[in-house]
Parts: sequence; structure tokens; C-alpha cells
Amino acid sequence: DVERELLPWADVGPATRALATSIHEDGYRPDVILAIARGGLIVAAALGYALGVKNTYTMNVEFYTGVDERLPVPMILPPAPDLVDLEESRILVADDVADTGATLALVKEFCGGKVGEVRFAALYEKPHSTIKCDYVWKRTDLWIEFPWSLEPVIGA
Ligand code: 5GP
Repeated sequence: DVERELLPWADVGPATRALATSIHEDGYRPDVILAIARGGLIVAAALGYALGVKNTYTMNVEFYTGVDERLPVPMILPPAPDLVDLEESRILVADDVADTGATLALVKEFCGGKVGEVRFAALYEKPHSTIKCDYVWKRTDLWIEFPWSLEPVIGA
């Protein structure tokens, strides 16, 4: 069995609060938070409240099918967000973890040239990630167990 990094529910609050504080202290003032669903939804909501950002977007990206099992490439599941009117906006992309970095690279490409500025925040970043997030709470190269996906799907 592989060693894992466990994030308990009780640590999600302090972790997202610390991540938000680092964003604020860096002087970044996002207009919009873009949640990468599903893993980034709770992170995005917590950052939105902590930073006082009410405007939130969601983008569904699918890549992982199991522990370290991936599709060949990450895919944007429809509906993709409409970035029209965001050409002047500062975007904060929120996700649970940048692992290979492929998901955030796809999001970066998707936003490319269409928004004012885009920065990335993730609770975790793995050392081999091709995208270096602007804001990270913790670094690890272990498989992370998040509280929202720790237990089996009900009825499955
Ligand atoms: P990436 O595209 O950077 O390889 O992975 C992005 C997504 O894959 C994450 O948002 C997350 O949903 C999933 N993922 C990658 N690594 C892990 C991990 O260590 N634990 C869990 N639970 N999900 C992961």
C-alpha cells in the first residue's frame, strides 16, 4: 500500500484561510474566482468568502479516473464558461491540487488572451507539476486523500 497524505475536513478551513491570506498579502485582488470542478469547488467557495469575492465561475475538467489513473488528456466537460466580458478582469483559478499540471495548463490555454490576468491557487502542488501555481498551501509528492472524495459514492 502506498503512503498517502490525508487532509481531514477539520483542516480544510485553516488551509483555505491560509491560502487566502497569502493571496491577499501578495496584493492580488481577483475580480472573479474560477473553480475547477469538482475538486476545486470547495476551495473556490472558501477563497471567495475569505477574499470577499462574490463573482464565481465554474469549469468542469475531467482527467482522473482513479488513484493515479488518468485519461490520456484532461477534457473540458460542457458547458464551458463564457469568458466574454472578462477581458479586463483579474481571474483566480482555484483547484484542490496541481499534480501533473495538465489540468491547469488546459485552463491556462482556455483563458489565454481572453481575460485581463489569470493566477492559480491550489491547496497542494506536486513537485513535478508543469504548471507552477502562484499560491500553494502545501507541497507533497504523495497521493492526497481529500475529505470530499474519501468515502465511496453512496449507493455505488
Ligand atoms: P493534474 O491535471 O494536475 O494531474 O491533476 C488535476 C486533478 O486531478 C486534481 O484537480 C484532482 O482532482 C486530481 N488529482 C491529482 N492528483 C491527485 C491526488 O493526489 N489526490 C486526489 N484525490 N486527486 C488528485
